[in-house]
Amino acid sequence: MPMLLEYFVTGVEFTESPNGKIIALGNDFGPRTVVSASKEVILAAGAINSPQILLLSGVGPKSELEALGIKVVKDHPEVGKNLQDHTLLLNNWIINDKGTRDELSHNPAFAQQQECLYNPNKAGRLSNTIAQSIGFFRLPSDDPIWSQPGIVDDCPGPNSPHFELILDDGFASTLYPEPSEGNFMTIATVNLSPSSRGSVKLGSSNPFDAPLIDLALFVKEPDLHTAVAAIKHARNFLTAPIFKDYVLGEWGSLAQAQTDEEIIQYIRNNTVSAFHPTSTLAISAKDSPEGVVNPDSTVKGIKKLRVVDASIFPLAPAAHPQIPIYAIAELASETIAGDYKLNARL
Ligand SMILES: Cc1cc2nc3c(=O)[nH]c(=O)nc-3n(C[C@H](O)[C@H](O)[C@H](O)COP(=O)(O)OP(=O)(O)OC[C@H]3O[C@@H](n4cnc5c(N)ncnc54)[C@H](O)[C@@H]3O)c2cc1C
Repeated sequence: MPMLLEYFVTGVEFTESPNGKIIALGNDFGPRTVVSASKEVILAAGAINSPQILLLSGVGPKSELEALGIKVVKDHPEVGKNLQDHTLLLNNWIINDKGTRDELSHNPAFAQQQECLYNPNKAGRLSNTIAQSIGFFRLPSDDPIWSQPGIVDDCPGPNSPHFELILDDGFASTLYPEPSEGNFMTIATVNLSPSSRGSVKLGSSNPFDAPLIDLALFVKEPDLHTAVAAIKHARNFLTAPIFKDYVLGEWGSLAQAQTDEEIIQYIRNNTVSAFHPTSTLAISAKDSPEGVVNPDSTVKGIKKLRVVDASIFPLAPAAHPQIPIYAIAELASETIAGDYKLNARL
């Protein structure tokens, strides 16, 4: 079968024989192409689009599908639910250091000099990343949040972090333009173990319409508490003697966010997604009625269909997700290869 590149998958068609079929459309203008799978179909479209494709294919919450006129193949209440994402808040400090990345935009001669270093030898400031140091932190086990009624720690492990600080030598913001002068340090505060759960739903039965994504950030109390703790941690870090006369002050609305109420408002106004969505087709134990996918990444109640991407984590990894996704992909490939070897022997 030829490899189809740049095709847009619009759904999976379920047939008894031989197996599942992927329906692919060659972008808005191309011909509709139906691809028959000889063994099985593996979805790997990510935590937003894999549930979208399943929903378009009639696998999802019955009432939601029927409301859009989509024929229900399997009533799967949790498809698209349980969406988790890390949050990203870029906090900026004005610093007394003419050597930050900001000079690349403020000083054309410096920028040109750095290009001359980078182009032949990949050296100089342009070879640097935007994050020089990263720290991972847990809330203390005796933090008052844990004794509040009904509060559960959704951290994926007893030693896993609740939040992260990413240090960057320059002005970084997803919301504000870079100031025309001054030198900056940015400390990004990132919630890594969210308690809030969002969703991915269809807005229509048209596969080319974007799905409706509700990140539900900070809906659950521990998430705001963690975000406030992370900012206090960053501020406390900068009180170390080494930063005396180096850190000149807080920039923008961070400077006005001093009381807990003001910090919470600042968090709500300035936080964005870290682009780490996961868990919309969560794995659960083989016989469990909860979740969407079995431990061997097959979709519960559907033959010859697996999902292998960030959607199958039951809990968001308390880490940058790329490596854990490689790990589940490796595990799935071994499982699939093992299944076929087993079938070949039978
Ligand atoms: C700007 C940005 C920076 C990031 N930085 C980091 C980082 O530094 N470290 C880290 O660990 N993670 C980072 N991430 C997160 C990381 O990229 C994702 O968690 C990871 O790529 C998710 O892997 P996945 O296999 O689940 O999905 P994806 O990597 O999103 O793969 C899904 C693929 O399916 C394709 N697809 C979707 N729908 C269809 C369709 N209908 N038809 C055909 N193809 C389709 C998509 O084009 C995509 O190629 C970053 C993400 C972004 C957006």
